[in-house]
Amino acid sequence: MDVLVVGGGIAGLATARALRRRDVPVTVAERGDTDAGGLAINLPGNAVTAFAALGLADGLRKLGRTTRRREYRSARDRLLFAVDEDAFWGPEARPRCVRRSDLLALLADGLDAPVRRPLTVTAVRPVPGGAEATFADGSRQTFGLVAGADGVHSVVRATAMPGATGPKTALLSAASWRFMAPNPGIDGWTVWSGKGGAFLLIPVDDDTVYGYASATGGAAVSADASWLHNTFGDYPAPVRRVLDGLTDLYHSPVEEVRTGTWASGNCVLVGDAAHATAPVWAQGAALAVEDGLVLADLLADGDWDGAGARYEQLRRERVTHVQAATDRFSRAAALPVWLRDLLLPRIGPRTYHATYDPLRHPFPTP
Ligand SMILES: Cc1cc2nc3c(=O)[nH]c(=O)nc-3n(C[C@H](O)[C@H](O)[C@H](O)COP(=O)(O)OP(=O)(O)OC[C@H]3O[C@@H](n4cnc5c(N)ncnc54)[C@H](O)[C@@H]3O)c2cc1C
Repeated sequence: MDVLVVGGGIAGLATARALRRRDVPVTVAERGDTDAGGLAINLPGNAVTAFAALGLADGLRKLGRTTRRREYRSARDRLLFAVDEDAFWGPEARPRCVRRSDLLALLADGLDAPVRRPLTVTAVRPVPGGAEATFADGSRQTFGLVAGADGVHSVVRATAMPGATGPKTALLSAASWRFMAPNPGIDGWTVWSGKGGAFLLIPVDDDTVYGYASATGGAAVSADASWLHNTFGDYPAPVRRVLDGLTDLYHSPVEEVRTGTWASGNCVLVGDAAHATAPVWAQGAALAVEDGLVLADLLADGDWDGAGARYEQLRRERVTHVQAATDRFSRAAALPVWLRDLLLPRIGPRTYHATYDPLRHPFPTP
């Protein structure tokens, strides 16, 4: 029997790829509206390492742009601290910023498995020796295992694991804006943070930046784009130039999933369905790809009994580390600006190292 992967986003396609590398038969069901847009995604070094483990190092190197330096700045453009990311991650794991549509195309390219689209799964339940999926037309099919890669509002989580906890608004910010814009002259990952919010820019190629803007301290972020101008209109010149040239504007809630249950019989959760986390440390893609690699290792020997529980055991510590680091930073971001600006030059570099150091090391595998 094969695996059904529900969802064809980064987690779903990465899981399907990882399974095929271990010769496990797999089908992907995607309801059809993969969230790619024209936006980009920031991939820290451990995400780059995880894509390499999927056999995609060369393909990834052709996408987007490397990020060699990070700068944390005040709303008045004072440099609070900087990180030499090139030196930290090394040449094999240089962070990159890439377009989401390019990343999804890379994951799908040459995938030796059917991606059935549009195909919506409405329910999943564990059955002896496998898992049964119900589809939108009412038909049912039994698989050896179902992997829920169906994102924050996962149907697999809600139906196969009724005890699991659903999504909650992130501590950092209730929502965010993401966008693309002409590069206003920045060379690396740069965030300006002030009372109203944080405004992050990352070059995605020589001419274009990807941007992310949110409140701090869980404040509301209006879905009216005038919020951006009202909040950041007096920020430094690069921010103001970007505000004048925004494209692909996208407003979305920032929700997190913190649940004690990632598996029930032969149903498991991967990616955001298991552990969506506010993008403070940009770990969504990294953790999703790692999930898929670990699950594939576990299923490769054909003995799938108890694989879900073993998967959860192997993944829990790393995910908990990222969640704790996200909470620490989100609380610090909510401090009064004068205090944050005073503390960041001292605690910022330490926090960066404390977060990413453990993630530079290989994740536990079976
Ligand atoms: C504002 C914001 C910024 C972010 N920035 C970064 C970043 O810079 N770096 C980073 O690594 N991560 C970032 N993330 C997180 C990252 O996008 C995700 O962690 C990553 O894309 C993995 O998502 P996923 O594949 O698990 O879920 P999704 O991308 O949500 O994919 C789920 C897929 O399942 C499909 N689906 C859902 N339900 C069903 C169903 N019932 N039947 C069939 N198909 C279904 C959907 O159509 C979708 O294609 C950010 C997240 C947010 C909210």
